Amino acid sequence: MSDCIFCMIANGDIPARVVLDEGDIMAFDDIAPQGPVHTLIIPKHHYAHMGDDVPSGMMAALFSAVPRIAAMKGIAESGYRVIVNNGADAAQTVAHLHVHVIGGKPMAHGMVRFESGE
Ligand code: 5GP
Ligand code: ZN
Repeated sequence: MSDCIFCMIANGDIPARVVLDEGDIMAFDDIAPQGPVHTLIIPKHHYAHMGDDVPSGMMAALFSAVPRIAAMKGIAESGYRVIVNNGADAAQTVAHLHVHVIGGKPMAHGMVRFESGE
């Protein structure tokens, strides 16, 4: 997808701080980190959403990279949150499947905040 920012990162057309480049996946630091560690893991191939016939092997590759990235970033023991925002109600802003790995300091309990404030 030529107008997809994560495809451009995967192709090397725009720079990113790459953490892992391995086969069909790569990981890079988020440009607007929500914590001391905020890394995104993506398939190099464009899938907009989790439901877009993503092969199970790709899902496995994305998620099995998580603990290795946590170890590289030094947060394996302290803990981290793994998030996939999928679709409009989840406020997904980049329509290229990605897994967030966020950590590096303690978070508040809970993880869901609705626009309505519930
Ligand atoms: P979403 O809200 O779709 O789950 O997350 C998209 C994430 O991509 C956001 O955390 C945002 O900061 C990050 N992001 C958007 N554009 C870029 C970019 O050009 N480079 C990098 N490294 N991250 C980006
Ligand atoms: Zn893409």
